[in-house]
Amino acid sequence: MDYQDYLCEHVTLLEEIIESKAEEYSLLQMQRAFHPDFRLSTDTFSSLIERVVPLTADFLGYDQEKLPAFIYISPLRDMVFSSYLAIGTLGYGHLENLSHHKETELSSVLTVTAFLPLFYWVLRTMVSDSYYPVKQTILIKERQWTNAVCTLAHEYAHFVQDISPAFNSRIGSFMDEGHALGTGLHIARAVAEQENDSRYVLSGLSRSLGQLLCTYSDLCTKIKQAPKSSFNSLFSQFGHLRQMHDFLSKNSYCVGGTLFTVAEKTYGVDVYKDVLLRPTCFLEV
Ligand SMILES: [Zn+2]
Repeated sequence: MDYQDYLCEHVTLLEEIIESKAEEYSLLQMQRAFHPDFRLSTDTFSSLIERVVPLTADFLGYDQEKLPAFIYISPLRDMVFSSYLAIGTLGYGHLENLSHHKETELSSVLTVTAFLPLFYWVLRTMVSDSYYPVKQTILIKERQWTNAVCTLAHEYAHFVQDISPAFNSRIGSFMDEGHALGTGLHIARAVAEQENDSRYVLSGLSRSLGQLLCTYSDLCTKIKQAPKSSFNSLFSQFGHLRQMHDFLSKNSYCVGGTLFTVAEKTYGVDVYKDVLLRPTCFLEV
């Protein structure tokens, strides 16, 4: 069965999921802890790995035969890059003035030296939490400990996808993202329960609700059904991505997230393990 037909067949279930997740979200928000969050740092990054990786590997049925490399992009590195940029640019401006009337190659040399750090800095700020398959490396830039649990589990799921030959992962594909988003949320939920702290789940859950609502809205258009009027307030609270188009497309994170959320309900939570061996397993049920 095609994934769009699968979703169309489960619109009522999707409505139930949205209702129950919205309820869970408001409950968790009331229980939100008010003590300060840990800041993730280079020192605490290894504790995060020790905490999250075994849980995620177990959830995905992966025996950890291979490990990816982990790199934490610390705020200090951010600062060094930014200072380098500022000094480079200011220095260039100053020396440019000095060399203005000279017939030298100085200004072009300086242009290169000033713009190299700029180029590097732009590239670096474009780097977000991610998994690089070529180097089998996970990069984490997240600062808050509670958010980092979900983020690291998400990127680790991309690593496991990458080394699972049957899964045939492709960066940015809706299957990869849906699988990683669902994995991240499950691990965040497990840690939240262990530590009795809902902050681990809140941001992932809010994101998930946004995706579910966007895909739902697209599905309603496709099957010519009016969206539930009781969802209007949810659309304004979580459906912030609604202005974008085509949430049913294969490029959309939203459809991937929704697909796995619905698949969990119809197939069971083992869908996260089983798709690594048989990617379309839940569409065959
Ligand atoms: Zn991802």
